[in-house]
Parts: sequence; C-alpha cells; structure tokens
Amino acid sequence: MLTCYRGHIISPTSAGKWIEFRQGAMVVSEGKILDIGDWQDIQSSLSANDKVIDYDKNLIVPGLIDLHVHLVQMAAAGKWGVTLLDWLNDYIFPAEIKFKKHDHAKRLAKWFFLELAKNGTTLACVLNTIHQEATDIAFESAQSMGNRVIMGQNLMDVNSPDELTVPCNEALKQTEELCKKWHGADNNRILYAFTPRFAPTCSMQLLSGAADLKLKYPGTYIHTHLAENLAELELVKKIFPQNRSYVDVYKSAGLLGKNSLFAHSIYLDEKDILELSQSGSAIAHCPSSNFFLKSGVFPIERINKANIAVGLGSDVAAGVELSIFKAMKDAVYIQPSQWISPKECFYFATLGAARAVNLDHLIGSLEHGKDADFIVLDPALKSSITDDLLDHQLDDILSGLVYLGDDRIVSATYVRGKCIYEQEKFETLQKTDYFSKAELRRH
Ligand SMILES: [Zn+2]
Repeated sequence: MLTCYRGHIISPTSAGKWIEFRQGAMVVSEGKILDIGDWQDIQSSLSANDKVIDYDKNLIVPGLIDLHVHLVQMAAAGKWGVTLLDWLNDYIFPAEIKFKKHDHAKRLAKWFFLELAKNGTTLACVLNTIHQEATDIAFESAQSMGNRVIMGQNLMDVNSPDELTVPCNEALKQTEELCKKWHGADNNRILYAFTPRFAPTCSMQLLSGAADLKLKYPGTYIHTHLAENLAELELVKKIFPQNRSYVDVYKSAGLLGKNSLFAHSIYLDEKDILELSQSGSAIAHCPSSNFFLKSGVFPIERINKANIAVGLGSDVAAGVELSIFKAMKDAVYIQPSQWISPKECFYFATLGAARAVNLDHLIGSLEHGKDADFIVLDPALKSSITDDLLDHQLDDILSGLVYLGDDRIVSATYVRGKCIYEQEKFETLQKTDYFSKAELRRH
C-alpha cells in the first residue's frame, strides 16, 4: 500500500534548484519517496487501496538536521554569565556527572528525543557523556522513539574532573563496544560517531585511538569541537606546543577527513581552512551558541569559498533551545555585515547538512528515491505570522520561516515515512508520560 501526502511542497534539490508544488503530493512506500509532483498529475496513479493524508494548505518540507547537540546538557540550558571554559566547569561538567545514574539518563534521553521531533529535527548528531551505560540508554531511546541519529560516547582522559575521566584504553574499549552494538541499527537509521570531547580533555593517544576506530568501522564518524573560543585556543597551544595550530593537533591524530565533523571552527587561519577543505572534513556552525557564550563570529565567507560542507547545530545547552529555526535566524544575525539568503539558510539546515555528513544521497531534500524524512509546517499556528504567508512567493515563504519559525509551527515530524511527532497529541503525551520536568530537576 502506498501513502500519499498532500500539501504545499517545497524543497531544495541536489541539482542546486528548488521545487515548489503549491497543490502538491508526495507518494511514499516503505519509507521511500516514490513520486513527487502536482496532485493533479499524481492523483491518477493512485489506486483505491492507497491512503491519502491531506495536509491541505500546510507546507511539507525536508526534516531539519541538527549537526551538533549535547543530549546531556538539556537540563543545564540558560546558565549565563561566563564564557566557554568557565561555563563548562561551573555548569556543564556537574550536569554531565549526573549521568552516572541510570534513571536520570533514561528520563533525559526520552525528553531530548521528543523535543527534537517537536522542533522538526529528523536527524541529530548527538554528543553524550563519558558514561557507557548512559550512552547505551540514549541509543535505546533513539531507537524506540524513531529519530535518526549519529551519536557516540564522549571521550575524555585528561584535564577533566575525576568523575568525567576515563583512562584511554578503557574509554576506547567502551566506545568500540557501543559502536559494534549500535552502528547501522535499524537499517542505518542509527549511526555511530567517535566523539572525543575536544583537544584539551584528550591525550594524543586517545585522539589517535578514535581516528583508528573510525577507519576500522566503515561509515562511522568523528564528531568533536574545534576553535570555538580564544581562551580555548591558548589552552590548546599550551597543551600541544609542538603543533602548529588546533587543526594541526587533530591532523596529527588522524582525525581529519570525510565523515569528520567539527563544531564551531571560528578561529582558523588559511592553512587550517585548506587542511579542512582538502581532507573533506565538515563543519557544524552553531550561531546561537556563539551568541550565547560570546565566542565569536563564524567566518562564513572564507569557509564557503573553500567549499567546505557546512550545516547548522543548535549546540544545546550553549544554544539554549533545540531549534534549528533559531539557528537559521541567528546564522544571519551573527554576521555583522553580511546577509545570508533564506534559501541558503534552509539549505544549511537540510541538504547542506546532509552533505556535511555524506548522507545527501538519502536525506536532506524531497526527491524521488530518497527517504521520506519530512516535516509538516502550519505557519498560522503561530499567532504573529500573517495568515496568508503561503500565498506569497517562495523566497518570502522561506524568509517568513527563517525569521519567525519555531516549534509552534511544526504540526508533524516524519522519519522514513513514520510519524514520530504530532502537535495535536503532544499535550496528552506529556501529561501521561513517565517523566516529569520537576523530577528532572531533582535528580
Ligand atoms: Zn558543543
């Protein structure tokens, strides 16, 4: 049986163009897009047994991709007043230590994956803590909730609080066990990333060990932080005096390359940019976080010129909300003198991000043969958005979404044709669910 979704469909395409079907239809079978076009043309190919879900005048767009987010920091969002290194010590490390408790890990994972879907995010590249059990719980939760993830156990073996330090060999053994258990689960909906936290909390042995594991298990990723803050840069220089730059530390560990994703990447010289570009590494730009921690301005022009694949990350908890809509808007706001067009913002949040993790043959746009990862948006659900937004030209619709969109306009979220969130049912789900936010604060 086929399912046909009707609505106002817009999407970038891999040919560098955009499609728009104002009275459109998308036919899905076994999680794949079989056909997409005008309802008028598609209608005749359907049989009486096929199911039609009519989203009427709502928008159907590709699911959003969050390239950099910390599950374990959900309950620590909005802790202000300091920059990166103090923020980690004062707020984040204490929050991460709590993940040694099974119940806490379970509650937060459930909350996190539901919130992701509620924000229209269909794929997230997720960082966890150093706790193997908590990371395993996060995978279980993603598996049962239906989200698409690229995720792994955090690696930290030096310069960290005792409770967040795992000796190198033990850390590598644990992360490899999790990789064997989860990489490729549910026909590759779940993929594994080796995630050294960042250079200051990892020995060279641990960094190279992570690089070796990525090579050993094809299709896995490296995901870490790079050059986010000036004090961090000084620290890296002090710890690794023999290396030319921060990028050079990762290069000597063997971490650069295809399927290597570096969050932030603000302070890079021309040689660094060349190394990232030539190795096929990708960047997760996290503008909301850069604003919040006053980290600096991402050099978008130089990065685009070097043809490095870039997508957006919420970077919760330094980005305070799990919203890629907010990241799109902040990506424009944070540039002091440069505009980024709504089409470009949306590309960074969908197909561009898919390209950054080398999944653009499968997701990131609504095209024949791709997986049906999409969201249904009803801009009228937010009272401050004009009622007739969808009657406007494509550029104006996208502009409205970039500057005014948030989770209030997401009415449904689908991964591989399976609905993982419906706004109508959310209130009930929250009330009847086994976790409560008050409980989260107590733990
Ligand atoms: Zn981060």
